[in-house]
Amino acid sequence: MRMDAPRRHYLMPLVLLLGAVATLLPIAASVLLARQQARAQQEQRALFYARDVMRRSEDTLRQIGDAFTLLAATPDLPPCSLLRRQVMQRIDAQSSYIQFVGRLQGGRIVCASYGQFEVPLDVGKPDLVTANGYRVWPELRFRFAPDKAFIGVGNDRFIAVIHKSLPVDTTVAERGVSLAIISLAGQRTLATRGRFLPAWMPGVDDLAPGHQSTRPIGRNIVSQVRSQDADLLAVVAMNEDDYGRELAQFARILVPIGVFTGLLLAYAVRRVAKVQMSLPAVIRSGLRNREFFVEFQPVVRLEDEAWVGAEALIRWKRPGGNLIRPDLFIPAAEETGLIHAITLDMLRLVAPTLTALAARDDDAFLSINLSRQDLREPGLEALLHDLVARTGIRPAQLHLEITERGLSDTVHVRSLIDRLRATGLCVAVDDFGTGYSSLAELVQFNLDVIKIDKAFVDTIDGTTVTSQVAAHIVEMAHALSLGMIAEGIERRSQVEILRRWRVPFGQGYLFARAMGSQAFLEGLARQDRAAGGRPG
Ligand code: C2E
Ligand code: MG
Ligand code: MG
Repeated sequence: MRMDAPRRHYLMPLVLLLGAVATLLPIAASVLLARQQARAQQEQRALFYARDVMRRSEDTLRQIGDAFTLLAATPDLPPCSLLRRQVMQRIDAQSSYIQFVGRLQGGRIVCASYGQFEVPLDVGKPDLVTANGYRVWPELRFRFAPDKAFIGVGNDRFIAVIHKSLPVDTTVAERGVSLAIISLAGQRTLATRGRFLPAWMPGVDDLAPGHQSTRPIGRNIVSQVRSQDADLLAVVAMNEDDYGRELAQFARILVPIGVFTGLLLAYAVRRVAKVQMSLPAVIRSGLRNREFFVEFQPVVRLEDEAWVGAEALIRWKRPGGNLIRPDLFIPAAEETGLIHAITLDMLRLVAPTLTALAARDDDAFLSINLSRQDLREPGLEALLHDLVARTGIRPAQLHLEITERGLSDTVHVRSLIDRLRATGLCVAVDDFGTGYSSLAELVQFNLDVIKIDKAFVDTIDGTTVTSQVAAHIVEMAHALSLGMIAEGIERRSQVEILRRWRVPFGQGYLFARAMGSQAFLEGLARQDRAAGGRPG
């Protein structure tokens, strides 16, 4: 069954809505994509920086460990002997991160790689002690560099001193990045760059050793990397200003693409809508300019596949050569009250073929399709009688196809059908089975033929429920002594079954497609010659 075309007053708002959706959707999608991209990039960068902070810290710790091992390996010389200081100097020279190493005695550095102090450097008690026994002074200041802060890491006899800024001295490309290295044991920062919010401080068990996490905390993307072996955790936070900048960067590329595709889609929607909405106007001009023509699809006797008649099918060729399918314009014409004008054109178009058929001495018929609206036209009967009279065919050679929907105007249509049949015309119900009426309801109309819709014929060589419905329709039609034409036959297997069911006639691409009048008439003539019935 054909769908009704949407009513025109629904069409405009629908088009506007579709147009708006078509424009906005790609833009929204591109903004969303830009957001995602910017977010992902920022997360990646935060993690990259955090890993770098961790790498620097772990390298420093390794150097300190190596230094202590070396110092422990030298015999316990007097604390500040020359030999001891030479070892210390070697350590300073070899390790890139350590500023200097020194000898600890009672909370003081009594001598260092570069000399013995007259006044020892006081470091006091360590602020924290790590799990592997290192003492840590996170905030050391010395007389000789009053404006610099240092970190001291020591064991019971030695201390290694590094610049406090060293672990967080990573090169970063953007502003608003906070970096920190944290001692998990002490739950405090050892070194920070930029501000550090307490919310970024992880709990001791938040991350397993060697793991990392990157997630939004508040208005920042925060990446945390925990060391595999040491009690250290690196934190990098990037704030949203930066994220916004990145977003803007992506948006500059993606949004124009979104706008472009949006406009393209909107244009496409508009074009389709324009074609749809102006269809009535175009149909009118098509009728004026005689753009419609007719083709004939043969109907065959299934027993021997001989052509017994044809269905006239309207065709529309636009000036550019575009062929518009009846499925498209017939519903629109029915919707806008133009269908009768098409039917009138059809009656004009089939006349020559009817005249040609009248010249033969057989029953070859032509069927034409009538819409519901045609049946309400007061002049219809007169037109049909006039056509019969003008062309000289016998009325039984003109078949009228009315769809199930066309039959819904019960009382009026019933009497119309009766009158038409009384004059000898043949009336068929088209697309049978696709409407709502049952065969029993059809009995109230005096019909000659039912055309079993392609939807049913499609299934008869299968095993679906529909195939049984088709069998049932055929059975009932036999019981009611109705003629039958099976539509849309495409396969041999269908023909076999239809023959077994004693369906007398069929129509479909298997036998023939719709063709021009001349081809149809020639086909009939060829058939005559083959049968030897008529002189060639
Ligand atoms: P319909 O009256 O059921 O016509 C049969 C349709 O099925 C035709 O499509 C025909 O080409 C197609 N058909 C026939 N055999 C096969 C087959 O084996 N396989 C397939 N896939 N299709 C097959 P068409 O010509 O596109 O017409 C479509 C519909 O448009 C018609 O369905 C009819 O409802 C309407 N129509 C066509 N001409 C007119 C007309 O002059 N007036 C009115 N009111 N409606 C018409
Ligand atoms: Mg038809
Ligand atoms: Mg049909």
